[in-house]
Amino acid sequence: MTNPQISVVIPVYNEEAGLASLFARLYPALDQLAISQETSYEIVFVNDGSRDRSAAILREQWERRPDVTRVVLFAANAGQHMAIMAGFEHAKGEIMITLDADLQNPPEEIGALVAKMQEGYDYVGTIRRKRQDNFFRTWASKAMNRLRERITRIKITDQGNMLRAYSRNVVDAINSCKEVSTFIPALAYTFARRPTEIVVEHEERSAGESKYSLYSLIRLNFDLMTGFSLVPLQWFSMLGILISLGSAGLFVMLILRRIFVGPEAEGLFTLFALAFFMIGLALFGIGLLGEYVGRIYQQVRHRPRYLVEAVLERKE
Ligand code: UDP
Ligand code: MG
Repeated sequence: MTNPQISVVIPVYNEEAGLASLFARLYPALDQLAISQETSYEIVFVNDGSRDRSAAILREQWERRPDVTRVVLFAANAGQHMAIMAGFEHAKGEIMITLDADLQNPPEEIGALVAKMQEGYDYVGTIRRKRQDNFFRTWASKAMNRLRERITRIKITDQGNMLRAYSRNVVDAINSCKEVSTFIPALAYTFARRPTEIVVEHEERSAGESKYSLYSLIRLNFDLMTGFSLVPLQWFSMLGILISLGSAGLFVMLILRRIFVGPEAEGLFTLFALAFFMIGLALFGIGLLGEYVGRIYQQVRHRPRYLVEAVLERKE
């Protein structure tokens, strides 16, 4: 395999039910692109420690098309973004495309991404034309987006969509990062000099189940904010200053009342309410600090981010 023009990186975790239909659409789409655009491609599958037959199916596919296929097999589950990281490290292309294994991102859209990249952009994000998710999920992610955009300055209109293209420069920068828990599109955005977005189709999951729950979506957004910005901490210290000033005012007022009005106990429950509110804020602050401390802890342990069991590729 000489260095191909396009590398398609696909994380795979327990996708045995959908892989066959993925191959059936992905390879023809890329073969056609290769002919019409005179490009070359490779597909890098990363099996993220699946507990089903995914690894075996990927191996069969590699035996069928070793000319354009690489397979990285993890020893254990490391998460979607670590899988993509590993894929990037093994991919040789000039243009990198990431794609989900569940056919929610139509492989036929790869051509549009490549065309956009050839216009000189180094990051092409995508916006799903019509999201095949339920109303609540759509709404929740919109609200989260706005908050995240303000906090991190990362502009990703549609973050739940992994169909994206990155240039070699951006991927090299990503490869030099040693971050343990990250979100690839956001990381890439911070390195991109000419980012853009296009609208693509989006389909229902072809088979199997989503690996993400609502909880993990909330986690992801928290990770994005604490992983890409110190703004939450800074806001919190500003809030702390405001509250201290307020409390100082209250203190002075209570002292004056004690002196001029005498002892009184009627405001007791107002004071309780205030105190509980403050305790709540303080707890939130500790939690927020904990998020950052946790990230530091993960990072300083220097554990391998993922364990590669084997790489299936043709000897050069
Ligand atoms: N995935 C992975 N490791 C994980 C979870 C998911 O490699 O721990 C892969 C999964 O196989 C799929 C992609 O990441 O190719 C997106 O997962 P999923 O479709 O479950 O997410 P959703 O589309 O529901 O956000
Ligand atoms: Mg999916």
